[in-house]
Amino acid sequence: MSLRAVKGMKDILPDEISKWHRLESAFRSRAERYGFREARFPIVEPTALFVRSIGENTDIVEKEMYTFTDRGDKSLTLRPEGTASAVRAYIQHNVQAQEPVTKWYYIGPMYRRERPAKGRYRQFYQAGIEVFGDPGPYVDAEIIDMVVGFISSLGISEVEVLVNSLGGTATRAKYTEALLAYLEPFRSELCSDCQRRMDANPLRVLDCKVPRCAAIAADAPSILGHLDDEDRAHFDGLQESLTRLGTPYRVEGSLVRGLDYYSRTLFEVLGKGEQLGAQNALLGGGRYDQMVGSLGGPDTPAIGFAMGLERLLMAMPSEPEATHVDVFIVAAQPSVRAEAALLGRQLRDAGLRVESDLRGGSLKSQLRRADKMSARIAMILGEAEVDDGVVQLKDLQKKTQDEIPRTEAAARAKTILG
Ligand code: ATP
Ligand code: MG
Repeated sequence: MSLRAVKGMKDILPDEISKWHRLESAFRSRAERYGFREARFPIVEPTALFVRSIGENTDIVEKEMYTFTDRGDKSLTLRPEGTASAVRAYIQHNVQAQEPVTKWYYIGPMYRRERPAKGRYRQFYQAGIEVFGDPGPYVDAEIIDMVVGFISSLGISEVEVLVNSLGGTATRAKYTEALLAYLEPFRSELCSDCQRRMDANPLRVLDCKVPRCAAIAADAPSILGHLDDEDRAHFDGLQESLTRLGTPYRVEGSLVRGLDYYSRTLFEVLGKGEQLGAQNALLGGGRYDQMVGSLGGPDTPAIGFAMGLERLLMAMPSEPEATHVDVFIVAAQPSVRAEAALLGRQLRDAGLRVESDLRGGSLKSQLRRADKMSARIAMILGEAEVDDGVVQLKDLQKKTQDEIPRTEAAARAKTILG
């Protein structure tokens, strides 16, 4: 067949979907327990939104965005992440005038034209949260604790939580000078991207995956040595709170992450299971206190994180696939097919998941399909049963069969299903 899905984009077929549902509903209920409410944003945004928020000299904006011109000559981009849209919506709907602190969560597909690999796709799903209006550090600790608890509730036991502080604007400026002084003698040894980054955004050199750059970055001065008193108090508060909540974490002074907009708190959760391979970052997040203001909104502190759902699914222990059929209805003769359809409707109205083979077929072939679908119960209806107002109820697990009044069919099925 010549038509195939776009490289790096996957179909998720029904056999896989129950894992997705489980993950998404676990995330929703966890987020709602913490006071977050769902928001949904367009998948397509003006290109300028991402250029201005994520930053011009980032991998995402330089080489990963799906950008196109629409028929009205507007430059649009498939969203590569969710925070920019959340900030745009927060400003556009004047949300800060309605409540001092805003807590949103979202779930949806993101698009980045990266080299596809295990755990790395061009369309992938993220679930994330954003908090506007709270400068932290206690809310920073609370969302880290929340997400660590969430991941462990999925049965993913081995994770590592990394935290760092990037300081505020003044700290970043001082640190950038120190970093440049350190990097300058190595300039010619750095990859060409990093040589450019030195001029555009030196912090990003610390995030480079080229081995020689990473080795040089390993010995760079740490930003933690440059925090001013307020930054330091913020970072201490975060750690005190994490410790009090019992969330294990490790301070990683070289953590910078790929987006330009972060300040102060930065964190990442890494999975340690082998299933993940090289793509072991389950989620990343941080504080972006300047972004709302820089996109034209009122100065508003903010923090958030985003998790990759495919990577969480890879790290989750597998569970046996549950059946999606409670009752399979069998029409013993062609003459009762209409009556069998009515019985099906009645059981569905009672809340049961009902299947049947509307094409008809022999009794045996219908029962084979019931087995194949792992239905727990088969209800057989023949001419005699219709006349007597009964059905034959087969418990396909216990291998028993009973004749029961049709009026009791739904109740009996529910008792068996528990
Ligand atoms: P990485 O270092 O793996 O490229 P990132 O720093 O680009 O990650 P973020 O932009 O912080 O990732 O996105 C948050 C999370 O989204 C990541 O931790 C990861 O779980 C997931 N993610 C990011 N890019 C992809 C992708 N191309 N395919 C699948 N999941 C992804
Ligand atoms: Mg990336």
